[in-house]
Amino acid sequence: MNDFLATLKFKYSGRNFRPIDHLVVCFDSDDWGSLKFSSIEQRNLAKSMGHNVSSEAFVRCDSLETPKDLQNLASVLLKHHDHFGNCPIFTLNFMMFNPDYSAMLQSNFSTFVHHPFFEAYGSDDAQKKVLSVLKSFSPTVFDFQLHGAQHLNVSRFLRDGKMASPLVLDACKVGVTNFSDSFGPNRQAGYMDELGCVSSSDALFVQHQLDDSLSLFNDVFGYRPHCLTPSCGVISSSFCASLHAIGINTVKISLRHYKPTKKDIHSFVALSNKHKGVSFIYRNVSFDPEVTLDFSQVIHDICLCNKAHVPCLISSHRLNYVGLFNLQNAQKNLELLDHLLDEIEKLFPNVEYLSTEKCISKYGKISQ
Ligand SMILES: [Zn+2]
Repeated sequence: MNDFLATLKFKYSGRNFRPIDHLVVCFDSDDWGSLKFSSIEQRNLAKSMGHNVSSEAFVRCDSLETPKDLQNLASVLLKHHDHFGNCPIFTLNFMMFNPDYSAMLQSNFSTFVHHPFFEAYGSDDAQKKVLSVLKSFSPTVFDFQLHGAQHLNVSRFLRDGKMASPLVLDACKVGVTNFSDSFGPNRQAGYMDELGCVSSSDALFVQHQLDDSLSLFNDVFGYRPHCLTPSCGVISSSFCASLHAIGINTVKISLRHYKPTKKDIHSFVALSNKHKGVSFIYRNVSFDPEVTLDFSQVIHDICLCNKAHVPCLISSHRLNYVGLFNLQNAQKNLELLDHLLDEIEKLFPNVEYLSTEKCISKYGKISQ
């Protein structure tokens, strides 16, 4: 894409913001709280069943955050400061529940049960420890927003389970949502697209799930968020009214996002800024070294944000920074993040670091 068109695209990404005369950088990070593979034994069980657990980065690398992961990420962010003396902030988008796979299996996929995300941290003491580490770094370097109820398309998972799909039966036996081979034709997002609803009854179910998640979020973090980052970037415009009805007025997506269809999901470039009371804001830069690493592209995109006078919302998922399965990679990715922040501060000495929420309230045109 030539620079003129790229700048135009980035300019559109700021339609819900007033023009900003300096670089504003927000890091927006998904998947926190979501349970993935949690031990080598669990991965070996999946492999022994003949499933691929290595070709998809989100299956290969992601795992539930530990206090050490959080402290390591925070320590990099605490090293850096903007023009105003503030540290870069990661907005951690949380899944508020994790599915109970054994309950689904035992009920022959006729009921859905889930548990609050923090139960996955372990004993009461372990849960307290993770939550206290999270809160100890807020608001300095962490802020919290909603990613969803669970990283699961419940209706598709239950439907395929009832049809005895080996992918779903084995996933429940192992205790995960996806293997790498769960992704494929007609399942571009595997079973992870929570909002991939194609019927009104599915949409109503997901709306209730999200409403419960907002209440749990309020209990854990002390406020009810107004912003949602849909799983896998999948959302239909018809679902916006359901979100608005439960108090969500902002949705964060990438410039290219996906709408559900009866067969699968279809990608499209969205340039609308508001639909049925919900404003769209766009994460216009991606920093996911574990998925693709093109450092010069990241810097290039940040420069385009600056040129277009729009905030730079950098999408950077949890899988880059958790060390259960890839301690060396997590350390390497933290070094890259450190380097990225050095470069930002060198190129833009007047940079301003904000949480996504603060950026919206300070520079947005979104009415609360
Ligand atoms: Zn996600």
